[in-house]
Amino acid sequence: MSEHVQQAGAAVRLDDVRFSYGEAQMRFDVEIRPAAITAVMGPSGSGKSTLLNLVAGFEKPDSGRVFIGHNDVTAVPPAARPVSMMFQENNLFAHLDVAANVGLGRSPSLRLTPADRAAVAAALERTGLAGKDHRLPRELSGGERQRVALARILVRNRPVLLLDEPFGSLGPALREDMLELLVGVQAERAMTVLFVTHQPGDARLIAQDMVFLEEGAVAATGAVETFFDETGPEAFRRYIGTDITEFARKRT
Ligand code: ADP
Ligand code: MG
Repeated sequence: MSEHVQQAGAAVRLDDVRFSYGEAQMRFDVEIRPAAITAVMGPSGSGKSTLLNLVAGFEKPDSGRVFIGHNDVTAVPPAARPVSMMFQENNLFAHLDVAANVGLGRSPSLRLTPADRAAVAAALERTGLAGKDHRLPRELSGGERQRVALARILVRNRPVLLLDEPFGSLGPALREDMLELLVGVQAERAMTVLFVTHQPGDARLIAQDMVFLEEGAVAATGAVETFFDETGPEAFRRYIGTDITEFARKRT
């Protein structure tokens, strides 16, 4: 791979993108700010995963265009997009150890140069996994497995990072550790991050911007803090419940 050079985040734009799985009609027209963390929230089935899959290229728009930076990537296959993606689980290959799972981010055939191996070691160090190189995924905790996934993202070094409820199965303390790690890594690499979460507090803690979805479309966007006061978007307030002032008080 040639993009070992650090890349700054790129804006992501969905330009009047239409997509449907038969029944579910979706339409996304939205611009994501570069080098920032944007939270993606919305009820189950509102299209959060579909939005990410359209950016990653796992789904193709029926019409409209997807841009990453200045490039129209609508017809570009997933592997050639400048994007990494992380899911709630199953990010790792069960039969490969930690070092190999991370090394895949550098070379799909695992033919690693000394520079690649050094990058893997640095990423393991950065994510708190030093010394665990030869563990298999089943010998790790859920939090550690997500650290491995994050280490692979670091060695890939792509400007756009898509996270689909990545810490959804972790308890509150572990989740907070992972959020802190994510914020640090995002700041170092200036990645453009789309972060799907069901936790308003997590969005408030790490994201600068919010995209709120309802029924397959963007219902509201803007700076995160504008969502968490009495004048926040009505649809969002309905979603998280009426007690929005409670949030405003708790998270200072
Ligand atoms: P979210 O991630 O917000 O829960 P999704 O993007 O997964 O929502 O789903 C959006 C809509 O598309 C829902 O109505 C869902 O039922 C439908 N859907 C998602 N994936 C598929 C699929 N593979 N086949 C058919 N319908 C799907
Ligand atoms: Mg989803």
